[in-house]
Amino acid sequence: MRINLSSHDLKAADHAHHLHPFTDHGTFGIDDRKVISRADGVWLWDTDGNRILDGMAGLWCVNVGHGRSEIVEAVRAQMSELSYYNTFFKTSHLPVIELSKMLAEVTPAHMNMVFYGSSGSDSNDTVLRMVRSYWDIMGKPDKKVIISRKNAYHGSTVAGASLGGMGGMHGQGDLPIPGIHHIEQPYWFGEGMQSGMSEADFGVWAAQELDRAIEELGEDKIAAFIAEPIQGAGGVIVPPDTYWPEVKKILDKRDILFISDEVICGFGRVGEWFGADYYGTTPDFMPIAKGLTSGYLPLGGVVMSDRVAEAFHNSAAGEFYHGYTYSGHPAACAAAIANLEIVKKEKLVERVRDDIGPVLQKFWHALGEHELVGEARMAGLFGALELVPDKSDLAKRFANVGRVGTIARDHSFKNGLVMRAVRDSLIISPPLTLSEEEAGLLAKAARKTLDDTWQTLKSEGLV
Ligand SMILES: *Cc1c(COP(=O)(O)O)cnc(C)c1O
Repeated sequence: MRINLSSHDLKAADHAHHLHPFTDHGTFGIDDRKVISRADGVWLWDTDGNRILDGMAGLWCVNVGHGRSEIVEAVRAQMSELSYYNTFFKTSHLPVIELSKMLAEVTPAHMNMVFYGSSGSDSNDTVLRMVRSYWDIMGKPDKKVIISRKNAYHGSTVAGASLGGMGGMHGQGDLPIPGIHHIEQPYWFGEGMQSGMSEADFGVWAAQELDRAIEELGEDKIAAFIAEPIQGAGGVIVPPDTYWPEVKKILDKRDILFISDEVICGFGRVGEWFGADYYGTTPDFMPIAKGLTSGYLPLGGVVMSDRVAEAFHNSAAGEFYHGYTYSGHPAACAAAIANLEIVKKEKLVERVRDDIGPVLQKFWHALGEHELVGEARMAGLFGALELVPDKSDLAKRFANVGRVGTIARDHSFKNGLVMRAVRDSLIISPPLTLSEEEAGLLAKAARKTLDDTWQTLKSEGLV
């Protein structure tokens, strides 16, 4: 690196010149930041000399772990051969062809075509335009409304944030855009438990929200339903077992498209290639990003079903006026190919399902015994701990939502583990290459974090 400053001066320069994403800038002081300088496997090092276990795989993306020379070498080789060319005007190139073929092999059998972008957010912009264009092509131009769910995360562009169901995001920039309808989410611990229903009944009820919305708005107006198989940024919300089977029944009888947002769940996170495989759903679109390249370079895409691909190949469809300069970027595709080769060669999907997944889940569920934890849930390597003030009354919550989560998150960092706080829960999504020993260290740091948080809450009179 050319920049040669002390750790403090780096932080000061960052504070002076770099506006961070998803940050409350008024309270983000110079010394509140960590500057990450190096990473290897599941470990990060910062410029203050700390070693930290990356329990979030970067931002849910570094599935094959940091510092994989196979990916670095593949990108270097591709950049020397062809660092950039576009895919617009009847041109293509080797890496985008190879990657598309590879994706057709690992995605569900009825999905064989990909449109590329550079992120999950722009993939959802593509989805929005493709969904509406699909119904135009099919001669049903009134089908325009997309049903999504409250507390969903589908990205941060105008379309992504509109499809998402985050109130805070909608409050900035007059979102959502018209034609997007949000229904209730299948969040048992946060909302279902308080309803008086059993978990199974709540799952069915939340699924039937979809049917009620279709009835209310009219099936002839509804284009699609979009959902994450398991909500990620919303707090790793694993729906009740009854949820997806009921949604499937509704989708089977209704003439609408289904978008399974696989940006986090895809590529092994839940112990199957995709969340759609995990829950046995049949998507028309799968937005992908994150684990596609394990974050080594930015790449996203939309995998589509054969019926959608056929519609766009219909000669009556005309030109689809959509694309990005970096659609199918050669270096990013080379990173994705090398990344997917690692996933296959090291059998990471099977490893999460049969081996390291069950190991970490066992540690995680043991943390559920802690006096601060109301629920410990995990699917694959994708988990959350719900923090509660009174374990004898699980419906009770801390006043001032988010404060306890932040205290716990800060303790976690001090204990050498990256966990993220969502409201008053702690979430993890570590690299799929996590070893058994590292899983033990993760659980130990998480337990210490719960103990430290409990102490802080006691001393502040919050429990
Ligand atoms: C992260 C995420 C996105 C947005 O992806 P970006 O690459 O950050 O634009 C979309 N959907 C889901 C489910 C995500 O987790």
